[in-house]
Formats: sequence, structure tokens, C-alpha cells
Amino acid sequence: MNFISEFIEVIFSMALFVNAILFIPQSIEIYRKKSSNGVSLLTFLGFLLIQLFIVLHAIIKHDYILLIGYLLSMITCGSVVALILRFKNKALPSDIDIINQLPGHVYWKDTQGRMLGCNQSNMNDFGIDDINDYIGKTDYDLFNKEEADKIRLVDDEVVRNKVTKIFEESSTVASGEKVIFLSYKAPLKNHKGDVIGVIGYSMPVDDIKNKHQDRVDMLENIIAEMPGKVYWMNRQGIYLGCNNNEAEAIGLRSRYDIVGKRNKDLPGFLIPEELDPVNEKIMSDGKAITLEEPAKHKDGTDAIYLSSKVPLINKKNQVIGLLGISIDITDMKQKEKELQEAKEKAEESSIAKNDFIKNIEHDLRTPFSGVLGLAQCLLVEEQDKDKREVIKQIASCAEDLLDYHNKVLDFSNVKTGSIPISLKKFDLRNIVENIVHIEKPAATNKGVKLIYRYDDSIPSILMGDDYRVKRILINLVSNAIKFTAEGSIEISVQKAIQNNEHIIVEFIIKDTGIGIPVDKQQFIFEEFTRLNPSNKGAYKGVGIGLKIVKDFVKDVSGNIDLHSEMGKGSIFTITVPFIKPLTQNIYDMECNNE
Ligand code: ADP
Repeated sequence: MNFISEFIEVIFSMALFVNAILFIPQSIEIYRKKSSNGVSLLTFLGFLLIQLFIVLHAIIKHDYILLIGYLLSMITCGSVVALILRFKNKALPSDIDIINQLPGHVYWKDTQGRMLGCNQSNMNDFGIDDINDYIGKTDYDLFNKEEADKIRLVDDEVVRNKVTKIFEESSTVASGEKVIFLSYKAPLKNHKGDVIGVIGYSMPVDDIKNKHQDRVDMLENIIAEMPGKVYWMNRQGIYLGCNNNEAEAIGLRSRYDIVGKRNKDLPGFLIPEELDPVNEKIMSDGKAITLEEPAKHKDGTDAIYLSSKVPLINKKNQVIGLLGISIDITDMKQKEKELQEAKEKAEESSIAKNDFIKNIEHDLRTPFSGVLGLAQCLLVEEQDKDKREVIKQIASCAEDLLDYHNKVLDFSNVKTGSIPISLKKFDLRNIVENIVHIEKPAATNKGVKLIYRYDDSIPSILMGDDYRVKRILINLVSNAIKFTAEGSIEISVQKAIQNNEHIIVEFIIKDTGIGIPVDKQQFIFEEFTRLNPSNKGAYKGVGIGLKIVKDFVKDVSGNIDLHSEMGKGSIFTITVPFIKPLTQNIYDMECNNE
């Protein structure tokens, strides 16, 4: 008996040692994986129970070594149980569960094409409920012969060459529907690495394919229906495609008929000698061009196209072809030509009209000047009061007519731009004083005072356009006299700004006349604008004086400013820049553009 009890104790001691040691790596493994997957809770609870009995046995027997040892062993086993409970819910599904949950078809078969297994989705699509009904089937049991033959070909290649293949296949599923799959097939190997079959994964790609196809169809439609003529070719000048308009314009039945053709192969509406060098240049320079190109319409008439052509460039930045859009501008060009001809004709007739006006003005000015001169001579000799009055009337009428002629002549010159802008030395003070001298009698006759001031700091001799300055001042002063019944007219010439080379002179013509309403002031510089037409009042005029002033001021880079109040008078301020000549001698030639 003693022997048996000692033997049992030795066995227990060994088990105690093994137990205590074995539970430690198990605990570490569970903790590391954070999962108790594959570890049986029941087994370890069983161990724990046995250990508990042994502990009780040790207490009864007062075997304290056994007691301590098994208590320690219970701790290591207890920690395994605790960890199993702790990570129980975090257990991962098994590999086969994962494969089962995979979308798409996962399947594996032997080298003869007999099924060894598959996932749930694969079974569902083939209408199979039990995996045992699937195992052992061949592709010929699942697919029609044509589909199965194709599958076998690929599988054989995968097995023979130990390669992975990716390809698209169309298969009929249980519902009878044809589905396009994107399939990956790889050799199935055993643990020694020998190929024992094929493992495959097939995803239905109908949706993706359909969306892609829709997009392709839409792009095709857009290209086909694009306005203008659209075409593209490769680097060798061979057409790869065009839109419907282009196909129609060059006499092709379908836009696909252009593929593979060169310009010279197309029905004769294009002119290859003109097109080919341009296309070649665009592709060799790699630069876009817009140009007009000649062609023929289908009825044989000449056509002109406006073409925009760009080189087609690949990812490596190499020119691989050309894309062009051409628009038929034959009608537009014709209209442009007609317009140009009409414009030229209009210009010719306008020149003729202006020449006619100029001739008339010159021809009329001579007799009017004669009438004025003779009237003034008669006035000197005639003593009879009544006759003098008549002669004065004649002289006044002749003056008015002469004034009109001068204005019309100026206006006609402004219109045709036939007065060159001059830059020459002239005596500004002399010009202003002459105008005052000429206009003074008219003012005096009306009982209006004509006051004149010239700022002595302005050099008398300046360089600029004397003709325009004179005409500006005459128009403004004669207007001031015309529209002033009483009071005064002040003509001031003063310096605005000057430096060593330039001076800006300010001409102020101020009257105490009828004034100009503020809301009309912007219009009076337009041609033929008169606020007081002759037929409605006492003021004569043609409405072109201020238009001439405005244009002449602009020609000399000057500025014009108007302040006026109804019934109180008007102030016209003109600023004109002049060059200060080196000497004040008018005869020194410094610059003359005349
Ligand atoms: P015209 O004097 O021949 O009518 P203008 O072009 O010189 O033509 O002047 C246009 C109009 O501007 C005049 O008809 C007149 O109504 C107004 N106007 C011009 N200058 C004055 C002025 N100093 N005072 C009042 N009105 C003026």
C-alpha cells in the first residue's frame, strides 16, 4: 500500500510541476493575441476542478508541499481561465468563417477541376445549399460547355505554369443570368509547396462595367455630335477618328470610315498639299495653331475653314498625334469681303464729298471776302447816313457768312482728319491779341466790354499747334460775344504749371451772358447741338463750334472745363501744354512738323 501511495504522490508531483509550467505560455499566448480563440474554457475549468480536489486531498493528508504546489498550479491555471473569460467575446471568426463571409466567389478545386470547397456566396449563386453537394462537382456541372471549356483552359495554365491569372469571364449563374466576373486564379499548394489545384476569387463587375460603358457611350455621343468639324490623327498623319460633321463634310458614310486613312485617301474635299505640311509642323513643333485653311464644299465650290489644331501629348510628354476643330467660315469671309468693299466705297464717297465741300467753301470764301472788303471800302467813302446803314448790314451779313464758312471748313477738316498736328514756334501773345482785335468791334457794337489779360510770366514765343489754338479761341470768344447782351467778356491767358521745358497755359473766356443749363452742358460739345436754334430765337449758328473746340483741345492734349449758370454767364477754361523754345526768336528753327 505504501508503495502505491508513494507512487501516486510522485505522479501527482510530476503533474504538479508540468501543470504549473504549461499554463504560463498558454496565458501569455492568450494575452498576446487578445483572443481566446481555439482555447477550450471547459478543459481549463476541468483542470482547475482536479487541482481543487488535490488541494483538498493535501489538506486532509496534511501534505503541505503538495498543497503549496497545487495552489501555485491553480494560480497559473486560474489565470488562463480568467484570460479566456476576459477575451472570450473578442474571439475572431475562424478562417473558413471569414472566407464564407467574403463577397464574390471564393472556390478551390483539384488539378482535374473537381471542386474541393467554396464560400457561401458562391454556393448561393449556384443555388446549392449543402457544401457536400458542391464538393466533387466539375465546371461542366456548374457552367455550360463553352464557359466550362474556357475555365478549364485557364485553370490548366495556372496549374501547369504555376502562375496567377487575372481575366474577365462571363458566366451563367443559377438564376440563368449572365454575369461578368473579374477573376483572379492562383495555384493551390499543399504544405510542401506542391501544386494540388487552383484557388480562385471572382467578383461580379457588371455594375462597374455598365457604368464605364455608359460613360464611354456618352463620350462617344458627345464627340459624334460636336459642332464644327472635329478630327484626330496619329503622329504619322493617319486618322484615328472624327465627328459626324467632319465625316459628312468630307463625304464619308460613317465617321468610323475615316479610321486608318490619310488626307490623300479621303474624297477630294480637303487639299492635302495645304493641310499636311501644317499638321506635320504642329506635331514636330508640339505647338497649337489657329489658322484659315482652304478646302472644297461638296458642290465643288471653294470653302474656307477656321481651324484650331493642338498636338496630342502622352504622359511621357511625347507628341503622339493631333486634334483639330475646323469651322466653315466661307460665308463669314464673303460677308467680311463685302463689308470691306462697302467700307472702301463709303470712304471713297466720303472723301469725294469732303473734297466737294472743301472746294465749295474755298470757292465761296473768295467772293464773300470780296463783298466784305468792298462794303468796308464803300463805308469809308459813303457819307449818306441811310446808305451807310445799308452798307453796314451788307458787311455784317458777309461777315456772318464768312464765319459760317470758316466753321464748316474746320468741321470738314476735323471730320477727315486732314489738318496735321503741328509743332512749331509761334507768338502766342500775338495770336491772342489779334483775336481780341478782330472780335472787339462786334462786342463794342453790342455795348459789351471786352477785357483782355495776358500773364507776363508766360513766354510770348512758344512751340505748339498755333492753328488749333487760334481756332479754339475764336470759337469760344465769338460764342461769348454772341450769347452776351450786356456786361463784359474777359479773356485771360495765365500760367498754370511750368518747368524748364514745358508750360501749361490756361485760357479763360468768361462772359456775363445767358448761361447754359447744367443738364445741357454735356451735350453742347456734340455736333449740331444748339440750345437756342435760330428759328426759335435771335442767335445764329450751326452747332459745330464747340465740337471743333472739343476735338482740337483733344488733338493738342489739352483739357476743357465749363462752369455756367443760367442768366449769369459762362466760364470756359482751356488748358493747353506747350514746349518752351530755347530762344524767344521766332525765326530760329527748332522743330517744325508742318
Ligand atoms: P453755335 O454757337 O454755332 O450754335 P456751338 O457748338 O459753338 O454752336 O455751341 C453750341 C451751343 O452751346 C450754342 O448753340 C449755345 O446754345 C451753347 N453755347 C455755347 N457757348 C455759349 C455761351 N458762351 N453762352 C451760352 N451758351 C453757349
